[in-house]
Amino acid sequence: MTHGPIVVLHDHLDGGVRPATVLELALRYGVSTPADDIAGLTEWMTITPDLPVTEAFGRFELVGKVLQTSEALRRVAIEAVEDLAADGVIHAELRFAPLLHTLGGLAPAEVIAAVEAGFEAAEATTGLSATLIVCAMRDQPLAITDLAVDAAIDAAAGRVVGVDLAGIETGHPATAHASALERAQLAGLGITIHAGEMDGVHQIQAALDACNPTRIGHGWRVIDDCTVDDGRIVALGSVATALRDSGALLEICPTSNESLGLPVADHPMRMLADAGFRICLNPDDRSITTTSARRELHRVTEVLGVSTLEHAAWAERAAAGAFLSAPDRAGLVSRVRNGWDVAVPRLVHLAERERWEAAGASGVYLPAEFASDGFIHLSGLHQVLTPANRFYRGRTDLVALVVDAHLVANALVWEPGTGTDEYFPHLYGALGADAVIEAIDFPPDTDGAFLLPPALVRVVRR
Ligand SMILES: [Zn+2]
Repeated sequence: MTHGPIVVLHDHLDGGVRPATVLELALRYGVSTPADDIAGLTEWMTITPDLPVTEAFGRFELVGKVLQTSEALRRVAIEAVEDLAADGVIHAELRFAPLLHTLGGLAPAEVIAAVEAGFEAAEATTGLSATLIVCAMRDQPLAITDLAVDAAIDAAAGRVVGVDLAGIETGHPATAHASALERAQLAGLGITIHAGEMDGVHQIQAALDACNPTRIGHGWRVIDDCTVDDGRIVALGSVATALRDSGALLEICPTSNESLGLPVADHPMRMLADAGFRICLNPDDRSITTTSARRELHRVTEVLGVSTLEHAAWAERAAAGAFLSAPDRAGLVSRVRNGWDVAVPRLVHLAERERWEAAGASGVYLPAEFASDGFIHLSGLHQVLTPANRFYRGRTDLVALVVDAHLVANALVWEPGTGTDEYFPHLYGALGADAVIEAIDFPPDTDGAFLLPPALVRVVRR
């Protein structure tokens, strides 16, 4: 597949170290390795579904042992940026836990500075902008999380843009770290929390409770709180509703989830996207699961048939979710949008202005008739105009919501309209406000700019 610029938001620095580098650093620092050649070590480092999670974490322990000097940290930071840039990535947020790299006597600030120096050097040669998320480990006490957050806040003037909670989920709810996360948020840092990856929906609830995160790492197990019928989410439980309405971006990592037992073919990413959850694709641990940002795109294209249009939309969501200042984020979004160069098929929904504006806070729009009909009416603008002129002539309280059709394509069902033999796409699910490209005054001063695209008709006609 061809693709445009990629934005990576979920990538562990220690999960992406080249095996050859691990081997070389291990030799230099006298760390013993389970294999003494690159092929053998690569094989050992790659985790598979049959491996217990605790053993999977053992791979990170070996990498951690060789990353205890400024020199080693700077080197792997450079290599990470080089590898991501070669893979088509234009902006990356890399994450790691600085406190795990202080065993050789470095202070957390020195650990962060070494990685930042690596990013600085690699950015100059690759053009990729790289920022840093500080991970706290959820299975460690709050006092340790406080130290990690202190280090992050101290480095916020540099490349540190956010704080993450990583580590073993089971038995370690995010709420135990809420006070530290709140301090980070008050200091202007972005918050993302691993949740609903290895443990259930209650961990997502705990993450939402902990500190209103704008992003969730993985979160795919929210599907357990959704009612699915015929491959489509038809109802949400309380946690799923809270997650969707929070607008939090789910950092989906398909290969990583597969290595822990969820086949890509069974991944609910598409159903979630169609039901109004915001998602983006990420590699998580490039070395440990032998993947890359581009490979994730290819995998879901191959296995789930994800279209280029969907990829473009998800890439844009990633850009919009980046922990950047508002102007920098807007710049990144437009670079991604222009870089993917896809003509966005558009559909129109005629909405009451007041109801649409009220949706602003939650980010999710549900029109009144959704409750009675069970679906949202969509159509091409030319199809809206005819009945609208008949039924709504003279009304000034309406807006035409121009919807990015590829964001909702898989939730559409093509059905006959009421009292007509013409078919219309009905959206079974909520309409995420960010699928709305623009809300134009009705009646518009154009008459057919948004024709229903033939390609989409093929997709939805059943
Ligand atoms: Zn992760």
